[in-house]
Amino acid sequence: MMEHYPFSLPALPYAYDALEPYIDAETVEIHHDKHFKSYIDNLNKALEPYPQFHNKSLIWLLCNLSALPCKIREEVRNNGGGAYSHNLYFNTMIDTPDCPYGSLLTTIDQCFGSLDEFYEKWKACGLDRFASGWVWLVKDKCGKLKIMSTPNHDTPLPCGLCPILVMDVWEHAYYLGYQNRRGEYIDEWFNVINWDEVSRNFLKCFN
Ligand code: MN
Repeated sequence: MMEHYPFSLPALPYAYDALEPYIDAETVEIHHDKHFKSYIDNLNKALEPYPQFHNKSLIWLLCNLSALPCKIREEVRNNGGGAYSHNLYFNTMIDTPDCPYGSLLTTIDQCFGSLDEFYEKWKACGLDRFASGWVWLVKDKCGKLKIMSTPNHDTPLPCGLCPILVMDVWEHAYYLGYQNRRGEYIDEWFNVINWDEVSRNFLKCFN
């Protein structure tokens, strides 16, 4: 789905109400069917007149923004970033969450001290992100894990980092259920992390 132009909206991997009571069905439906879809549609619209980029992957586009015509650079950065981030976001949530295990858990312990300390740092990073943005768990080329946040729809990809988990902290991700209480959203969001998928992403990065 994210191979190259024309990009298409991936199906939600669970029902709209699957993440309740942590994230309500209406939020998931609007977020996936309207917000996520509009980023994909606008990315396709920007790329449509430029066939030389139609075989490029989304990751290539986001890592090579300076190779794009000035006219579409910002549109690809924002809408391509939105497409990439939302794809990872919806794929790393699940209605039957598990706990991290194996080499992922060992690396979390090594890099953050413990799973509890990981959650603490993650929450602080989400609360610190002013206005709209994302919180990422990324793997670097040395195999280390790092928590970071980006504004708007920027991704860690141009820094050579491999994202394995992401949390949306735009208000549209939580406003219907939590209004301005971002901290509460983050606490509840910990209940829907798809650690199996995060683990797969962890093993895939740089391998
Ligand atoms: Mn969003």
